[in-house]
Amino acid sequence: MIGQRDNDSGAHFAFTDRWGGVSAAPYEELNLGGAVGDDREAVLRNRELAAGALGLEASGVVWMHQVHGPDVAVVDGPWASEADIPSVDAIVTARPRLALAVLTADCTPVLLADPVAGVVAAAHAGRPGMIAGVVPAAVGAMTELGADPARIVARTGPAVCGRCYEVPEQMRAEVAAVEPAAYAETSWGTPAVDVTAGVHAQLERLGVRDRRQSPVCTRESHDHFSYRRDKVTGRLAGYVWLD
Ligand SMILES: [Zn+2]
Repeated sequence: MIGQRDNDSGAHFAFTDRWGGVSAAPYEELNLGGAVGDDREAVLRNRELAAGALGLEASGVVWMHQVHGPDVAVVDGPWASEADIPSVDAIVTARPRLALAVLTADCTPVLLADPVAGVVAAAHAGRPGMIAGVVPAAVGAMTELGADPARIVARTGPAVCGRCYEVPEQMRAEVAAVEPAAYAETSWGTPAVDVTAGVHAQLERLGVRDRRQSPVCTRESHDHFSYRRDKVTGRLAGYVWLD
């Protein structure tokens, strides 16, 4: 259910794995994504189960409509209705106990918190979002709310690793021209992109020093959903909040 969790910085960070939910194949078991073809009731039940395991109210978790872009929304409470959910890839709040969530299945989930300023962010960084700068945009929005990059604690969750994310040579060149740290090669010797490495390089340049990266590669782990491996599959979630 909750594959990774820590709160030693004062902020709560959690990432799910695929087990402990009610979804049927190919979304078994804990699919938290509402736009992947799974039964709606199963997704809502899974969101309740995951929130319960974290000591949260499912109705109080803030989700986003992710579109692989650079846009950020500042929020101070749950969306009033599904129609109000904005098309953004990062959300930021200064409200205590408000949990922000990001959905992924290979893309890099990025959770950020400045426990002193009381500001947190959740961001979805796939290859396009990383290149578009969604993570620096999230840090910028946090800074406007009083956060200091030197105090920001960053966690990236399970994602496809650079040895597994094969891309055409031209695409690797385009990505590396923007973010050299994302240049990678697959374990079978072809061009690849390491999105998580790119995200960490971006955070390092912004002065975010307290960074941890999940050791899990979603494509290699059968305890995690992987779009590149399975195509039709569920979504994992990352959650961040402050007391
Ligand atoms: Zn891998």
